Amino acid sequence: MKARRNDISKGEWLNWRWQFGHRIKDAQAAARQLPLNTAEVAELSATARRYPFAVTPYYLSLIDWSNPADPIKRQCIPTQKELTFTLPDSEEDPLCEGHYTPLAGLIHRYEDRALLLTSSRCAVYCRHCNRKRFWGKVTRPSFLQNWPNILHYLQEHPQIREVILSGGDPLILRTDLLEYLLKSVREVKHIEIIRIGTRVPVVMPMRITENLCRMLERYRPMWINTQFNHAQEITQEAARACDRLLKAGIPLSNQTVLLKGINDNLNALKELFQGLQRIMVRPYYLFQCEAVKGADHFRTPLETGINIMEQLWCRTGGLCLPELVADLPKGYGKARLLPSHMLSKAENRAEFRTFEGKTVSCPIYTNPC
Ligand SMILES: *Cc1c(COP(=O)(O)O)cnc(C)c1O
Ligand code: SF4
Repeated sequence: MKARRNDISKGEWLNWRWQFGHRIKDAQAAARQLPLNTAEVAELSATARRYPFAVTPYYLSLIDWSNPADPIKRQCIPTQKELTFTLPDSEEDPLCEGHYTPLAGLIHRYEDRALLLTSSRCAVYCRHCNRKRFWGKVTRPSFLQNWPNILHYLQEHPQIREVILSGGDPLILRTDLLEYLLKSVREVKHIEIIRIGTRVPVVMPMRITENLCRMLERYRPMWINTQFNHAQEITQEAARACDRLLKAGIPLSNQTVLLKGINDNLNALKELFQGLQRIMVRPYYLFQCEAVKGADHFRTPLETGINIMEQLWCRTGGLCLPELVADLPKGYGKARLLPSHMLSKAENRAEFRTFEGKTVSCPIYTNPC
């Protein structure tokens, strides 16, 4: 891929339509264009029949092919484990989102937030995705056909103050179509906040054009949540995309998925979170990888994340620390995992473990005022 990058013009490389149109999407193209061995191509081919495969030339260019454990490769190239490795508790829909879907394309799990699935497509299909079940499937009615009903639902539920556009990836939609969606959400008076969940700044950063930013700016207050999972994804291109969004007045935060063999160690996460802070993307959540069929091989024990967060907490500033969260099975919702550093509390005293590992007892005053 690196070689090929030199053959194409800079203009093409930086054009998101070129990137989207030149995605590698099947085993034949992968065999032709990527340094995969025969066994890897066979695995890719078998797996992609069940779980679609697509990856942009840009994201492929981040792979260091000399590293068999490359974190980018593991996130985007299908392997046999997706078909052959399953744990007893995994599900197609681990969060029971189906149960909280009053109408196609809308998930309403938390009272004040509604999550809208804007499409079933993404620029890159992340192998660990917890919505693998949707990939490439055409839902009936389609999201857009259902849009009037979705707006009606939002109108009828004044407790919803935040709308989250998720997916599939909302930022692969045409700018005018996305604007139509944002505008109609803004017309619902009680919606205060729009949030967009997208991996585009990571996997196809050239999509973040000045034109797109000028449009998004008009629909603030808006937050964008990205998904950087490894420091190798923090490139100049990604930094530029984030900078454009920030300059349009859109704060960026990041949800990382804790992935075995990709980022499940202190150094990887420290580099990632500090790198995000440098490009002014605030680490928001670190998700325990969910019990999703086809991604079980990425799961880590609960202690892995807890131990890493404990160590990070002693070593780096709060602005690079996300909250460690598990989305509980059966749709019980998100649960925070980091234990408290208050060990015990009596009436007038509490015992704490300090960031340097000491145990101290401090007086607790009750304000009589
Ligand atoms: C995670 C999630 C949200 C957003 O939760 P926050 O804690 O506000 O980030 C909203 N809806 C659904 C269905 C979710 O899974
Ligand atoms: S971009 Fe998001 S929805 Fe799409 S495959 Fe990746 S994790 Fe899943």
